[in-house]
Amino acid sequence: MAATKIYGRGDTEVRALNGLNIGFEQGRFTAIMGPSGSGKSTLMHCMAALDNLTEGQVLIGDTDLGTLNDRELTLLRRNRVGFVFQAYNLVPTLSARENITLPINLAGRQPDNGWFETVITAVGLGDRLSHRPSELSGGQQQRVAVSRALVGKPEIIFADEPTGNLDSRTGSEILEFMRRAVDSLGQTIVMVTHDPMAASHADRAVFLVDGAIHGELVDPSADRVLDYMKDLGD
Ligand code: ADP
Ligand code: MG
Repeated sequence: MAATKIYGRGDTEVRALNGLNIGFEQGRFTAIMGPSGSGKSTLMHCMAALDNLTEGQVLIGDTDLGTLNDRELTLLRRNRVGFVFQAYNLVPTLSARENITLPINLAGRQPDNGWFETVITAVGLGDRLSHRPSELSGGQQQRVAVSRALVGKPEIIFADEPTGNLDSRTGSEILEFMRRAVDSLGQTIVMVTHDPMAASHADRAVFLVDGAIHGELVDPSADRVLDYMKDLGD
């Protein structure tokens, strides 16, 4: 059944998702775009089990999120999905390295031998790994947040405007880092962005309007994304 999410009731009812159907292939990088208020964040939260749909189903692999109890949802959020926020959401009292390993530690899991090193090397923070978030630049903090999402090898990572707080050069670094995670590590990533340049790093750009899929571009270039957005009147 198509996904619907309604906030509020009666006069204040908002249909944030309105009969939407979408799937994400493994090992691909997808950008979700659309005007402000089109339901992008709602879609990400519902897919990542941070919120639930009013109607419809979310499947992670073969698992229907709607059939899980609270404990099972907690485990799924810990072990099978990763989330990257615009505002980094790191724990200020922990070092970069501790932030990266936090989800694995919470899950009581041992990091895969070598995998942790692969991610740490890819993050490229070197001796800054012992620094706290306040001692890192925005771009460095976001690299830590992406690494934290990657290290548990989730089936899918959802990133909601991960470059929204970053200047374009730093944003590009994060995008290239995510692109490498898809290409070399086989990670599946879904990213919300407003930026046609950011979307051009993805394999596919999906456009949301009023809580429904308006269309999509495969191998989007920044120019084609910009043209599409102009046609949307955004
Ligand atoms: P986007 O991320 O594309 O900007 P959102 O998913 O945040 O859009 O919001 C979609 C619609 O749902 C908007 O009209 C927004 O005001 C509304 N909305 C989002 N979250 C809530 C909430 N917690 N309560 C009520 N309305 C909400
Ligand atoms: Mg949003």
